[in-house]
Amino acid sequence: MANKSSKSPYKGKSAKKNNLMLILFPVILVLLLGLIFVLNNQNEKVAQKEAETRVVDFNLEGQPVLGSTDAKVTVVEFGDYKCPACKQWEEEVFPQLKADFIDKDQVKFVFMNYPFLGPDSNTAAYAGEAIYKNHPDAFFKFHEALYAAQQDERTQWATPEYLLEVAKQAVPDLNGDEFLKQVQDDTHKESVQGDYRAGEDAKIQGTPSVFVNGKEFTGNYLDYAGLKKFIEEQLESAK
Ligand code: CA
Repeated sequence: MANKSSKSPYKGKSAKKNNLMLILFPVILVLLLGLIFVLNNQNEKVAQKEAETRVVDFNLEGQPVLGSTDAKVTVVEFGDYKCPACKQWEEEVFPQLKADFIDKDQVKFVFMNYPFLGPDSNTAAYAGEAIYKNHPDAFFKFHEALYAAQQDERTQWATPEYLLEVAKQAVPDLNGDEFLKQVQDDTHKESVQGDYRAGEDAKIQGTPSVFVNGKEFTGNYLDYAGLKKFIEEQLESAK
């Protein structure tokens, strides 16, 4: 008994300590989470600010261009043919951009590959480069057709054979055998890797990423009104 009673005050103290810890632990946890949240938010703001002020000097040699080469403003899009958001951008935003600026010779448009969603993202990008190298004038027709033919992101749909079918529809004078061979042999791997590195150097966070005269459009990718305003500002300062 003596033993027990001599131990009990200690036990009591320990229990009190435990109680205090029980109260303090959630408080500390909340404070820590709060701190992490604030720091994260700050980091995001710094990254956003950095993206808004950065001007990327793209080397556009060997890239497909749509529109007048004399246009004062260049819009560069990084995309992945497997990316559903890119398809949405292509179908909802791009036609407005084309009608308002590209067709009026105010903007020239450049597409660069940023394949990251799966091995067949690369295959699709190789197909794009193959068309560009062999039938440069048909590139944007194929580009549009490929987005239209996009399948479920979770399946590996962009096989050389499927891409050949899309290419045949979009490019009437296609040399199908040569196209298939180039896609199967990864002939245009270096071009695609070059595009991808340019995206990494430009610190893009995903696709689609859009740059206007080297400045990243950081608004929502489907906000065409915002993009239009951003382009108009660049047109104004390019005068
Ligand atoms: Ca390219």
